[in-house]
Formats: sequence, structure tokens, C-alpha cells
Amino acid sequence: MTVNLLDFDLEGLTAFCEQLGEKRFRAVQLFRWIHQKGASRFDEMSDLAKSLREKLPSVCSISGLPVLSRQDSADGTIKWLFDVGDGNAVETVFIPEDDRGTLCVSSQAGCAVGCRFCSTGHQGFSRNLTTGEILAQLWHAEHFLRQHLKSSERVVTNVVMMGMGEPLQNYSALVPALRAMLDDHGYGLSRRRVTVSTSGVVPMIDRLAKDCPVALAVSLHAPNDQLRDVLVPINRKYPIAELLDACLRYLPAAPRDFITFEYCMLDGVNDQPEHAAQLLDLVRHHGGQGVPCKFNLIPFNPFPDSGLKCSPRPVVQAFARTLSEAGIVTTVRKTRGDDIDAACGQLAGDVMDRTQVARRIAAAQPIRFVHPAKE
Ligand code: SF4
Repeated sequence: MTVNLLDFDLEGLTAFCEQLGEKRFRAVQLFRWIHQKGASRFDEMSDLAKSLREKLPSVCSISGLPVLSRQDSADGTIKWLFDVGDGNAVETVFIPEDDRGTLCVSSQAGCAVGCRFCSTGHQGFSRNLTTGEILAQLWHAEHFLRQHLKSSERVVTNVVMMGMGEPLQNYSALVPALRAMLDDHGYGLSRRRVTVSTSGVVPMIDRLAKDCPVALAVSLHAPNDQLRDVLVPINRKYPIAELLDACLRYLPAAPRDFITFEYCMLDGVNDQPEHAAQLLDLVRHHGGQGVPCKFNLIPFNPFPDSGLKCSPRPVVQAFARTLSEAGIVTTVRKTRGDDIDAACGQLAGDVMDRTQVARRIAAAQPIRFVHPAKE
């Protein structure tokens, strides 16, 4: 099997070129051809020495992911289903807005965290994606969109690692992919425009702060451990207090001076006034000084067998108002691409579950309303 050059950040590509007896500037040229121009063939790389162009195909390739399908939503959202082999497929979603184009990228085939409100979590886990498979999603989307929109400008302006998978449980593949996104010779995205979303893998939040600090979003979804243990099972390992401590340690390195907390609104489960009051107490007082943050409320997107319903709109609005009036910037996520099942928490792809996650969720007790006063 030849080496796939999509598996490298610039440093990795430089090391590979050095093995071939080539200088660093050749790696920069190659990197720019691949990521800035979307090249997949070496013979089109006109400024590379002819001898190198002839040598490269025998030792490496630029291999994207086969596209199984592409769906275009009426609102402009586009969803791709990519084949990652062995019966697994992952989804990637492009969300155009007036002032930005956001690509939601997957990091794993499935997910082992098993959040109760998440369609991916219900499918179980097959495997981590490679760096090349993570980057191939951006590479394909960016160059497809440029052609499609006849644009010479960058189309994907923001990347959110919020597709299938827990990115911080695939750390070694994630970090080189992030570096290629940020690299001026690659996609040149600013750290503020690349977001890693985590369910709360505390030790890896600390490592990310040192290795590649980008914007951080945390899937909170509950204001107390009793409820979060049920909704986001990784909470049993890293409870809320430890997670918020990690957020506070992350902030000095972060490109933004706040953490985004994601909060999926589940009817009668986590959407009551008491829950909002508990959240406020948490983020205002944790660690003495509180956690600078903003909230993103996500209306739950139902999927078969979830056993959950979305909070009614007035409840979501009241919840948002409580947080906003207390001075916390709070947004309610607009549902995009729901006619193609591309909305938050709906990404499912196809996963050959190699874990017991899907079975555990299916066997779990139905979620009951948990009243904070009784905890
Ligand atoms: S919400 Fe994220 S971490 Fe939780 S199961 Fe879904 S993909 Fe995994």
C-alpha cells in the first residue's frame, strides 16, 4: 500500500520528502498543490521537478474518500456520505450562511461515548478515522464547492469537528488534521474558525491546549452529574466539576476568551427552569470565578427509538431568556438541512458496530424526568 499524502500535516510531509532526498520547499509546493489547489495527480504539479513528478506515483498517492451519496437541502445545506471501507460510511455537512461557510466534519466511524440523544451514539462504534480520512472530507468539500460555485475564493471558512465521533478519542489523527487546516500553506483557517467539540475527555482537553489550541465547544447537556451520567455517559468518568476545571485550564491557550457549551433541549428531561438555574449557578460560581462561556441551545432532532422529544419552542425560548437575562450570551441553533437528515445529532452514516455501545443503549432504562430538587 502506498503512502497517502492526505495523511500528513506539513511537518509530516516534510519528513516524508526528506526520506525521498527532497528539500523542505518541495514539501511546501506539494502541500499547496494538494490542499490549496485540490490536485490529486502529480503530473499537473507544474512547478515540481520533472524527475520528482515521475518518482512520486510509485511511492505515494493523493487518495480522497469515495463518495457514496450527496444530498442537497432546499436551504443550501449539503451532506456527503463517504465510504471508509468495511461497510462503514461517515457523513460530512456543509452549512452555508451569509457571512460564512461551515463544514461539519466526522472524526470516527460511529462513536463509543453513546450519548442518549445522539443518532451516531445509538449506532455504536467501529473505528477511528485516519488523519487522511478526516482531511479528505474538507479536501473534497472545499474543491467540490469551489467548482460548483465557480469560486476562486475559499468556500469553507469554518470547520467544526461536530460530525460523527468524539474527536478527542481520536487525538493522534485529529491533531495533524487540525494543523493542516490551520497551515497557511494548507487551508489557512484561523484558530478561531476551527472548533473541536468534545463530550468531555478531560485529559485530552489539556493536551489540546498545549498541542493545537483551537476554539473549544463542550457538549454539556445537563446541569448536574445525576442527569449527565445518563445523557452523556462519559460523565461517569469525568464529572462536571472536573470538566469545568479543564475548561478553565484551557481558556488561557484558547483563541477565544470563552467556552461554548452545547445544550440539547429534551422535553421534560433537562429543560425545566430549575435546570437553567442550576446551569447558571455552575457557570457563574465554578472555581470561585465562574467559567466564561456562551450557550448554544440545540432543539433536539428526533430519530427512531430515541424515546425522547424536543422541548416545545416556548420552553426553549424561556430557557434561553433565563440564561440571557443573567448575562450569558445564548443562542438557539437554527435547524438546517432537516429535509436531508443533516441536522445536529442526526448524522448516522453506516457503522459496523464493534462495541457493545449500541446494545447497551438499547437495553438502558427509558429516561425519566429528573427533578433537580429531588437529587
Ligand atoms: S453526541 Fe458526540 S460524543 Fe455523544 S455519542 Fe454523539 S457523536 Fe458521540
